[in-house]
Amino acid sequence: MLVANVVKAPELPANEVQRQQSLESLNILETAIEERFERVTRLAARLIGVPIASITMIDGGRQWFKSIQGLDATETSREVSFCGHTILGNGPLVVEDATKDERFSDNPLVTGAPHIRFYAGYPVHSPDGQNIGSLCVIDRQPRTLTPSQMEDLIDLAAMVDMEIQSKQMAVAQMRMNEELAAAKRAVLVDPLTRLWNRAGGEEFLARQHQLAVQNREKFCIAMLDIDYFKKINDTYGHSVGDEVLREVARRILRSIRNEDFACRMGGEEFLLVIADPLATDALQVAQRVRETVRGTPIESEGHSITVTLSMGLAYFDPAALVAPAEVIRLADAGLYRAKETGRDRIISHIENGA
Ligand code: GH3
Ligand code: MG
Ligand code: MG
Repeated sequence: MLVANVVKAPELPANEVQRQQSLESLNILETAIEERFERVTRLAARLIGVPIASITMIDGGRQWFKSIQGLDATETSREVSFCGHTILGNGPLVVEDATKDERFSDNPLVTGAPHIRFYAGYPVHSPDGQNIGSLCVIDRQPRTLTPSQMEDLIDLAAMVDMEIQSKQMAVAQMRMNEELAAAKRAVLVDPLTRLWNRAGGEEFLARQHQLAVQNREKFCIAMLDIDYFKKINDTYGHSVGDEVLREVARRILRSIRNEDFACRMGGEEFLLVIADPLATDALQVAQRVRETVRGTPIESEGHSITVTLSMGLAYFDPAALVAPAEVIRLADAGLYRAKETGRDRIISHIENGA
């Protein structure tokens, strides 16, 4: 062989076909990020004190990140993945210094960006017990795991298993995940924020509309736009602007509930669908979103940037026979009014008098 030193690609497990089938049957691949998984990777990074943590699904020839902290990546090849090795066992895989491990020393993720030195992963499972992926933590310097950090990793992996089973999300989103093939879902996710995109929002709303009519329940649509975003780009540059968009998206997810929905409509504009059967809760959720975004400055490339939002709210009422598109128009009118009257505020359709 000409190449003396090649990456030791992970072997395929004996039950690879069943494993892959179990993974696909979960309808999780190519879905948008969800707070219930974001929370786990955030905790993993914080508890173990590492810059990078992810929930990784081993899917055919790739590893796909359902959630990742500290790296802006969606997938890598399975060949170079550490997690491809983790799923071969039933316990943790710990690599204290990848440069000293013959399986990984010439791995491009070790020799180049993101310069992995330390890795610890633990398998995560489908309800039928297959190792579909792993929860892992990564550092750019060699280190060890204390026994209690190992326990943290194992406990958090068990929480991922629970979330995979629980499917706690808006019914319309679950239907969307179930009814659309992974390839179709992939084009409905915004690559920058990994929220659903505008077309994803339309898919969701079609189902949400049907459910609301069936169950005679109201829901609220919120249109959000970042204030003076162009100035952030102009002052700090486009990559800081991108990071602000990603962080605003994450803060939106942190502020809404499992049964709510968020998508990026384009640019610095987002749409929320807030479950609110009795029209009592939406304003509270919207206020939490606004407070979470403006409450702490966003840190990016050494800058500390306070971001505010303007928001318009409008309700879908199944008794009123108004199409969702009309509700979006009313929410948009509220947003326009919020901008016009000084920004950094929420205006709902009722006060807007539209
Ligand atoms: P307003 O308070 O009235 O909303 O002002 P604004 O500056 O937020 O709004 P405006 O529509 O003037 O500017 C939006 C800017 O968003 C312009 C566009 O270049 C920028 N933008 C759109 N998409 C992206 C993106 O993906 N990344 C970055 N960095 N900027 C983006
Ligand atoms: Mg704006
Ligand atoms: Mg805008």
